[in-house]
Amino acid sequence: MERLQGIAVSPGVAIGEALVFDNEGFRIPRRFLPRDAVEEELERLDNAIQAATREMDHRRGRVAEQLGDQYAAIFSVHIQMLNDRRLRDELEEMIHQRHYSPEYAVSRVLRRYAKVFESLEGPYLRERIHDIFDIEKRLLRHLLGERREELAQLTSEVLVLAHNLTPSETANLNPKFVLGFVTEIGGPGSHTAIVAEALGIPAVVGTGPFLTDVSGGEMVIIDGDQGLVILHPDEETLARYRHELVEHQSYAVKLESLRDLPADTTDTTRIELMANIEFPTEVNQCAERGANGVGLYRTEFLYLSCDTEPSEEDHYQAYAQVAQAMAGTPVVMRTLDLGADKMPGMQVSEDERNPFLGLRSIRLSLRNVELFRIQLRAILRASVLGNVRLMFPLISTLMELRQARMILADAMEDLEEKGIAFDRNIQVGMMVEVPSAIMMLDRFVTEVDFFSIGTNDLIQYVLAVDRGNKDVANLYSAAEPAVLWLIKRAIEIADSHQVAISMCGQMCGNPLYTMLLLGLGLRSMSLTPAHIPEVKHVCRSVSIEQCQQVAERTLLLDNARDVKTYLKEELTGVLPGLPM
Ligand code: PEP
Ligand code: MG
Repeated sequence: MERLQGIAVSPGVAIGEALVFDNEGFRIPRRFLPRDAVEEELERLDNAIQAATREMDHRRGRVAEQLGDQYAAIFSVHIQMLNDRRLRDELEEMIHQRHYSPEYAVSRVLRRYAKVFESLEGPYLRERIHDIFDIEKRLLRHLLGERREELAQLTSEVLVLAHNLTPSETANLNPKFVLGFVTEIGGPGSHTAIVAEALGIPAVVGTGPFLTDVSGGEMVIIDGDQGLVILHPDEETLARYRHELVEHQSYAVKLESLRDLPADTTDTTRIELMANIEFPTEVNQCAERGANGVGLYRTEFLYLSCDTEPSEEDHYQAYAQVAQAMAGTPVVMRTLDLGADKMPGMQVSEDERNPFLGLRSIRLSLRNVELFRIQLRAILRASVLGNVRLMFPLISTLMELRQARMILADAMEDLEEKGIAFDRNIQVGMMVEVPSAIMMLDRFVTEVDFFSIGTNDLIQYVLAVDRGNKDVANLYSAAEPAVLWLIKRAIEIADSHQVAISMCGQMCGNPLYTMLLLGLGLRSMSLTPAHIPEVKHVCRSVSIEQCQQVAERTLLLDNARDVKTYLKEELTGVLPGLPM
């Protein structure tokens, strides 16, 4: 049995067979194929060689055109090597006779070739090693890429173990078959983690390298509460986790009875619990979990799930679906929060060394006004179909907000001229997720209708900790007093100017913080639908006075660890049976 500690990003327990996806660094573990899969795998190898050949031929053509034939010759050499009969025979022999997977066969054979060149005298021959590695990488990318497509076509239950999953790959996982996943890299606030929560499947990220220790089909346990992954579990551990799984399920069933009840505290203060969604289809979950509306619609996921740029009509169709399905309850549509952090494949400038401080989110929209207008027009058009509100992300200065509002006013004028209907009084708000916005919040109050605190980004910008980096994940915590004081300040300023304020960061989906947030004055939260029932359960079990005392005591503490310990004590005092 082997235990790995990672970062818990989506709660729950999953037990099942592993489906392994190796990393881009291509350390390919030895894996054997079932006898009846050999022909299919040989075909997969053939397809990968053909695809790699086509790709190189295309590049050869482009380079020849731009730089001349002498520079394109290198691609001809690669194509020759890739289609070499001897190489092909060796690969096929390994798959056929030894039942190696094509990935492992490619890695084995080409690494042996590289070793031969390494031992040869002379810089020219030694240089050929790079060519061999290049061919290996290219072939593996095609082979692994194909395997990644399998992710969307699963037919049996698995636990996905991968080096990394992009947010869109995660979004395409089918929770019916993917019971949970683990990635070697990734941090607590990464969008992959957020999507896992939305899917409601247990997930652990940032375990560090382990994929070479596990083969497809082996039994694995994912403990999404503790951030643990257990490989080759013994019988006793399996029995314990099976019991825990049943407990989780029965707690979830118990909470279902709260669905149609309001999130009122014991002293009858109404708390609004809205839902965070990424895709229109999630409106079903909003209804199932009893959400009071959509407090954050991350519209950028439309881009993450499309191969081509969405048109105004694509935007409109998605927004219309959400607005109509939510039947008059509020729907806060956040304008595009795109950047290299969410789109790993995005073309970025050479200077974009830190995407979180770079051209992302509202900054990207303000630089690409046409793209921004297309989206604004679509949101405005959908605004007549429901209770639609519009929110700008990552506002850090007043000028930025004013610029965004000006483009919005332009889009309105444009629709007006064309006689297209929209809600002229649409509420406009902003995310509060950069410390500068909180410092200037008393100036923002006259320029927006509402605020929403984005703790996922706020934590990273206050503490200077990358939300997606496992190496600093221990420093990324909503419980840091500096974060809590900023939240307190934001709520106080908004309240004193009677501007509505909510929170939509992951912090408010964690019941550990519910009493503290109510005590700080928050009355509206937007969270992953799956977490609404348990947060509602806490709200319905406490009084505001009790929460105010908790908040006061929390603010006396000076570090995140003490804050968490204290909040855990308070919560278990109120709800002793809560699985945490
Ligand atoms: C946040 O930053 O807290 C937030 C809700 O937005 P996102 O996670 O999409 O950046
Ligand atoms: Mg954010």
